[in-house]
Amino acid sequence: MIPPIARRFVAGETPAEALEYVRTINEAGVGAMVNRLGSHTRERSKAEATAAEYRSFVRDVDEANLTASVALKPTQIGLELGEEAFRELLSGIVSVAAERDVFVWVDMEEHATTDATLDAFEEVARAAGGGVGVCLQANLKRTPADLDRLADVPGAVRLVKGTAYDPPPRVAHTDGERIDRVYRSLLRDAFERFDGTVAVASHDPEMIDHAISLHERYGTDFEIQMLMGVRPEAQIRRAREYDVSQYVPYGPRWKRWALNRARNGVRFAAKDALDGAVGIHG
Ligand code: FAD
Repeated sequence: MIPPIARRFVAGETPAEALEYVRTINEAGVGAMVNRLGSHTRERSKAEATAAEYRSFVRDVDEANLTASVALKPTQIGLELGEEAFRELLSGIVSVAAERDVFVWVDMEEHATTDATLDAFEEVARAAGGGVGVCLQANLKRTPADLDRLADVPGAVRLVKGTAYDPPPRVAHTDGERIDRVYRSLLRDAFERFDGTVAVASHDPEMIDHAISLHERYGTDFEIQMLMGVRPEAQIRRAREYDVSQYVPYGPRWKRWALNRARNGVRFAAKDALDGAVGIHG
């Protein structure tokens, strides 16, 4: 059983619990991107079972009439077994999802997987004519060129700062202010040039406001994406005016994810308290 402290960040251990949770956030006007926790699967049977679970989840979302997409990690559905295995399993999920009008997001993982992820995404997105989106990480030095490559690919792009992994300085910016500057500029490029949806996946109020001003200027479709359990009040407040999607993880391997989210929460609560103290006294 998942203890209450972790339940803030994880919807449950089973697809049924995830669906139930999605129903509650949908009632508050927030959509979901559902991820089965786990990555770096090296056994074909496990990768196939995970892909089958996503296909079945997509059917359940449609039948329950919920507002939800799925968000999968390339290495949980075959990338560790080779690019062909990944493409095959991704394409199988996307085709079932297309029949059910459910969107599929492809997360981005370690920098060594970027080429293979984008190649598979591009092939599957062109074949399906959309219905699928991919994540790009602002901290990677290559990302402006990757964004350029995706400009005429059908589908959607999710922009993140990319600080979840720890790429070496050879390939990535490591300074937070620099990453923020690049993130703003990528958002501007995407809003200016993309026909499909641009997702601003950040908890940073400044970046969300920047995206809103770009949306007002260029009219590009966009959505705000945040993680389950992080700034939940802000998610509901923003959803009164804009599309908001919450990244909803579930599955038996919830411990590490919940621990990392709890650690981050403490870090930001402490920072907010200190900023408040400086605001009052300094
Ligand atoms: P930060 O730069 O971490 O923080 C900026 C400000 O945001 C803070 O000052 C604070 O005001 C607010 N904030 C941030 N976190 C909190 C918190 N816990 N509590 C309260 N306030 C907070 N990374 C990938 O590499 N690949 C992916 O596929 C991917 N998908 C993602 C999907 C979603 C929906 C989201 C939200 C993130 C995803 N990420 C992904 C992670 C991303 O790369 C960042 O590591 C992560 O979002 C932290 O950056 P940030 O933009 O939220 O803000």
